[in-house]
Amino acid sequence: MNKKIILLGTLLLSCNLALTGCSATKGDAGTGSLFQLKNEVSGNIFAMDTYMQLTAYGNEADTAINEALDLITSYDNKWSLGKENSELTLLNQNGSLPVSPETAKLYQYAYEMYQETNGALDPSIYPLVQLWGFPTQEYRIPSKEEIDTLIPRVDFSQTSLDSDSLMLTLGQDMQIDFGAVAKGYTSEKIMELFRSHGIESAMISLGGNIQCLGHKKDGTEWKIGIQNPDGGNPLGIVTTHDQALVTSGDYQRYFEDCGKKYHHILDPATGLPADKGITSITIVCQNATRADALSTALFVMGMDEACSFWKAHSEEFDFIIYTTEKELLISKGLEKCFSSSLPYTVIQ
Ligand code: AMP
Ligand code: MG
Repeated sequence: MNKKIILLGTLLLSCNLALTGCSATKGDAGTGSLFQLKNEVSGNIFAMDTYMQLTAYGNEADTAINEALDLITSYDNKWSLGKENSELTLLNQNGSLPVSPETAKLYQYAYEMYQETNGALDPSIYPLVQLWGFPTQEYRIPSKEEIDTLIPRVDFSQTSLDSDSLMLTLGQDMQIDFGAVAKGYTSEKIMELFRSHGIESAMISLGGNIQCLGHKKDGTEWKIGIQNPDGGNPLGIVTTHDQALVTSGDYQRYFEDCGKKYHHILDPATGLPADKGITSITIVCQNATRADALSTALFVMGMDEACSFWKAHSEEFDFIIYTTEKELLISKGLEKCFSSSLPYTVIQ
């Protein structure tokens, strides 16, 4: 990894307010930098097509941040579809591949979430993501015929993993993409790594994925701002500890044609950008991998189904939804820790 280490005596990176949903810009993946104060170390890296920022406090914070940056790079090398030798690139080219244990684990988790969300989360959506031009930013609106031709290839149940050989096999002409879950998984693994180094306070932002460990160094709770898709003040602030906050939104990656917006979260049932009443959804959950999978899946499900899903799992996660009608909704578990200058409804 090409990592630049800079020691700065006076730099103070504030993690009091982290805005979710940073927009992704291209750069040199794997090039990271590290800033250090006494017991406070921050690292930055561009990977997985987004900017990532990590801050940890503790005696071993510098080792922890260095190892976290290396972990991010190793995952990026496995799962980036922009890298010609990544495991997923080779899998998509060959149709089958013996994969690493990490890739097998992420695949298995994605498969469980595919089943649990009735296919709203489906990593085999990738041929359609390409058809719309999102990976290359050569955007185009495909014809109905083109979409209909690719829809039969979107069916994660046609993929399989041999648990002994870790041979991952795709169905005919299928391709997969872990874009909807990889950052959450990475976030979760970074927290495990931090804990193994005795870190009790940390905040990381992997693009739109925020995760905080413990409380702030002064013992108070983290205050995490939720980006307003319309710009201006945040939708609200969540005051919390030990949580992941993962946002999926139609404003994060999109193009416009004749005044209409086409965004990057596709409905596997139609092949079109999901369009069921949600502009942005933030999942608040202790498990970042689950938060990432659910943010994408509930965005696809739309308002009604997302609320039903939450009611069946209200002990596990909460949400903040901004609808296409510009209504702000939060689920009841957030009532005590959410504040906003905007009116909002609490879903019971
Ligand atoms: P996220 O930002 O976590 O919501 O993930 C969105 C990314 O996941 C997109 O940029 C696509 O690469 C991919 N994606 C889009 N739609 C889906 C879907 N329905 N299921 C799984 N992955 C998807
Ligand atoms: Mg996601």
